[in-house]
Amino acid sequence: MTTTKTTLSFQAEVAQLLHLVTHSLYSHPEIFLRELVSNASDACDKLRFEALNRPELYEDAPNLEVRVSFDPGAKTLTITDNGIGMSTQEAIDHLGTIAKSGTKDFMGQLTGDQKQDAQLIGQFGVGFYSGFIVADKITVESRRAGLPAEEGVRWTSGGTGDFEVETITRAARGTSVILHLRADAEEYLNAWKLKSVIAKYSDHISLPILMEKEEWKDGELINPSDEAGGRQPGAMVKTGEWEPVNKASALWTRPKRDISDEQYQEFYRTISHDFENPLTWAHNRVEGNTEYTQLLYIPAKAPFDLWNRDKKAGIKLYVKRVFIMDDAEALMPSYLRFVKGVIDSSDLPLNVSRELLQESRDVKAIREGSTKRVLSMLEDLAKHDKHEAPVEGSDAVTDVVDADDQAKEGKYSQFYAEFGAVLKEGLGEDFANRERLAKLLRFASTMSDTASVSFADYKARMKDGQDAIYYITADTLAAAKNSPQLEVFKKKGIEVLLMTDRVDEWALNYLQDFDGTPLQSVAKGAVDLGKLQDEAEKKAAEEAAEAFKPLLAKLKEALKDKAEDVRVTSRLVDSPACLVVQEDGMSTQLARMLKQAGQQAPESKPVLEVNPEHALVKKLDGSVHFNDLAHILFDQALLAEGGLPEDPAAYVRRVNALLV
Ligand code: ADP
Repeated sequence: MTTTKTTLSFQAEVAQLLHLVTHSLYSHPEIFLRELVSNASDACDKLRFEALNRPELYEDAPNLEVRVSFDPGAKTLTITDNGIGMSTQEAIDHLGTIAKSGTKDFMGQLTGDQKQDAQLIGQFGVGFYSGFIVADKITVESRRAGLPAEEGVRWTSGGTGDFEVETITRAARGTSVILHLRADAEEYLNAWKLKSVIAKYSDHISLPILMEKEEWKDGELINPSDEAGGRQPGAMVKTGEWEPVNKASALWTRPKRDISDEQYQEFYRTISHDFENPLTWAHNRVEGNTEYTQLLYIPAKAPFDLWNRDKKAGIKLYVKRVFIMDDAEALMPSYLRFVKGVIDSSDLPLNVSRELLQESRDVKAIREGSTKRVLSMLEDLAKHDKHEAPVEGSDAVTDVVDADDQAKEGKYSQFYAEFGAVLKEGLGEDFANRERLAKLLRFASTMSDTASVSFADYKARMKDGQDAIYYITADTLAAAKNSPQLEVFKKKGIEVLLMTDRVDEWALNYLQDFDGTPLQSVAKGAVDLGKLQDEAEKKAAEEAAEAFKPLLAKLKEALKDKAEDVRVTSRLVDSPACLVVQEDGMSTQLARMLKQAGQQAPESKPVLEVNPEHALVKKLDGSVHFNDLAHILFDQALLAEGGLPEDPAAYVRRVNALLV
């Protein structure tokens, strides 16, 4: 038979990834085995699923398994599965390119700093390419189930710029990954070492992982006619018999009490390809109308593609232990897309499709149950996330905290820093759980620079007579904190929540109040401090409004192209002016964001509010520069909230004219 060898180049991102794998991951060499065994197991899962409709795919080997073997002479380690296998084209596509969207952006984030990059790469997942941590050459031989033996493929690469493919004859269905080990990785040519790594990383894989049994064999007699003459050294020799080296029962089907934390963590790393431990997990068997098992994890770090719009959910769906699909987005709402795990249902049909999933009542029940489970996991973390300092002078009696509770301390803030912004999407997406979600939100405020203030904390600190939760949205914390709109609130010691996530503005549209107290943006509508303003202040404000009427009319005329209205305000203390939007309008910040994103924003003009107490405003009346001052006042108010004057050159010209 003639075989044609073709040399092909790796996609640029693969070459980059490979460079990283060999240069940054050598400190965790063992993980290659987990990744390759996990791929082998996935390949078997895929075969089992395809064979539901095409049982002939099993050929004459219905028992799915993974075999790990090594050859000390050739210095190779081989992982073989009898799963779905790959056609030539699949080998080229799957082992030569990365299909994940956002890969290019991810590569752009790499710094060249090995430690930092190793962390990032952990979030990305290296999969198959991790083989190059221990091998300087990898050969993959494969045949896709259902194709004739002559349509096998051999893929070979030294892990640098390119790889070779050729057609081979391969009787066995499935894939062998043959690692030609580097000199510094020869410890993996040892059954004991391999078994211990498999036990550590892959015990919970539901398929049997087999290794060839070895037996001690004494060496030959040195003098065959005389026992007493001694023997050559003995050795372990292979027996030709294969035995399982893992438990081979899917982790989630085992009783909780038989599973250690380490096993849960290891399972997480296998399904998520994350290098870090998860923050927390929940494992439950749900009984009732719909029966299923859920094992759900909350990661410690956001994945690199959290913000990709087509980011899939992280849930694997099994039906009666048969793998059905990855990324089962119907099982988890999009705002919980960071949750990883497994759901195994005994009620769904085995041939369930994505389309069917969308409509199934059972799936709806599973999704609701799983959403609630995640929310209670988060509530539990939040409950234990107390870091208040002990009250001085109080007795030394503290609550008894058990080890488990202690382990949860600080985790909610960690979670929130990574995923808080995604969670907020839930306000708009999950009406039924809105109140629970609102309780889980945390914000920075004029009293805390970190996102640690809950609505409940805020309410507990509200002033007498205060009847709204005040907040401001801005692009950055600094812009929020220094916004002129906060001046009167600072003066009166009223806390304001500072919202700087892009989604805040949108999400808060869906939350009118918290526990009966309305939410009020300080940048929308006329400021109404209600009972927080005393009679004298109210009277002074009314008088100022009256006295300024003629001036306001002039300002309005001068700025008629820019401002919807001009009015006096009592919200300013140090600044001469600020911009606000009408009560029902879109904030200037959101409008700006939409424009930056190339989207249509409604063209609405803001309201200019002036501070009647400010020297600049007082000076306006009768000034020969009235028109210039009016425009400067407006443009400065825009600058103060992070915007840009429509005509920056004109602004500079006007200011300079006054400076001269
Ligand atoms: P991932 O598993 O995250 O998709 P990998 O780099 O580990 O990424 O693998 C890339 C692809 O190569 C897999 O998605 C799969 O299609 C294919 N693949 C890898 N190993 C095997 C295998 N043992 N059998 C069949 N296909 C495989």
